[in-house]
Amino acid sequence: MESWSIYKEFRFEAAHRLPHHDGKCRRLHGHSFVGRIYVRGDRLIESGAKQGMIIDYSDLKKYLKPLLNDYLDHHYLNDTTGLENPTSEELARWIYHQLEAAGLPGLSAVEIRETCTSGCLYSVNSHQ
Ligand SMILES: [Zn+2]
Repeated sequence: MESWSIYKEFRFEAAHRLPHHDGKCRRLHGHSFVGRIYVRGDRLIESGAKQGMIIDYSDLKKYLKPLLNDYLDHHYLNDTTGLENPTSEELARWIYHQLEAAGLPGLSAVEIRETCTSGCLYSVNSHQ
């Protein structure tokens, strides 16, 4: 069966600290995070303004906006997310579950990059 994966990239500046880390990440510091949310679908909308799409990119933005405003951009992630140890991995999972709870259809993965060369992709195996 055919399918499509689309993504929307987003950016935010934020501070965090990893209290258990044995190096400098234990200290309060910040990143220019880059993330992507991935949505997967096996059929395209057949008519109307969104014909030929899985979901409108601007709709993806609407799901991201409250997360960015209220929890991520220019926030201290240890406080706003409630994560004691907000690694990229924990943050990607947290964002995934927030989007899932908000009802984003077709959500398949969340990617978080802390630096230009380091990042992670979180997904849930739906075949289990
Ligand atoms: Zn860090």
